[in-house]
Order: sequence, then structure tokens, then C-alpha cells
Amino acid sequence: MSTDDSLEALYRETILDHNRSPRNRGQLPDATATVGLLNPTCGDQIRLDVKVVDQRVVDIRFTGHGCAISMASASMMTEAVKGKTVEEALGLARDFKRFLTGERPQHDLGELEALSGVSRYPSRVKCATLAHNALEQALSGSPPNPAGDA
Ligand code: ZN
Repeated sequence: MSTDDSLEALYRETILDHNRSPRNRGQLPDATATVGLLNPTCGDQIRLDVKVVDQRVVDIRFTGHGCAISMASASMMTEAVKGKTVEEALGLARDFKRFLTGERPQHDLGELEALSGVSRYPSRVKCATLAHNALEQALSGSPPNPAGDA
């Protein structure tokens, strides 16, 4: 097994794990912003509840259904941004979307790097970025990509 193969196996396992046991799944009764988004090309749906206090994401939850990539990406994203400032969270979303178009991320993306293989499949990029687009809308209050395009 080459290094590339074992890295891909690790990535696949990370994605499957988040898909099987999603983190931060549910709704927030005291959310300060809620955004629902649909990825029509795959049928993925997500609802994101965010609670922001003093410009910090103190809590975040998601519900929805869709392919393994969209759900794993949402799960990893909520873990990555929980506790971060709004500025940091938006920076991570931007960085992740750049990463999926083949650019080098400016920050450590953590487990989200497991989705690097998605960049080879443009139609799946929309699955992986759905939760990040929802996050951007929830935190900025304006839709950066109304059609959900990557
Ligand atoms: Zn999908």
C-alpha cells in the first residue's frame, strides 16, 4: 500500500465515521440564526442553527439528510467552528471552499482535509460546501451564493 492509498483509506474512514455518528446534530431552541439550504443537483438538505454571543459561535447544530459527503462535511464543519469567533468561522468556510478548488488552505482545516478527494469531482463539491454556504449565510446574514453554487 502506498502512502497515498493509506491516506485515502484514513480519509474515507473519517468521512464514514462522521456520517455514521454525526457531531452536533439537532436543533438549538435559542439559536440566533437559522439557515436552510438545498443542493438540488444531489438532493442534499441541511438546516443549520447557530448561536452567536459577543461575536463568537458558542453553539451550532445541524439537521438534514443527503449523501455521505454532505452530512460528514456538515458534522466536521460544526466541530471545527464551535467556539471560534465569527471572523474565524467565516475564514474557515472561505478557506475550505478554496481548498476544494485545489488551492492551498491558509489555515489548518483539521478533519475537513479528509474531503480533499472531493475536489476531483466538481459535482460533489456542492455537497461538501453546502454546510459551509449555510454557515456563511447564518453568520453574515446575506446569501453569498443564492443558488448554492460553489
Ligand atoms: Zn450530495
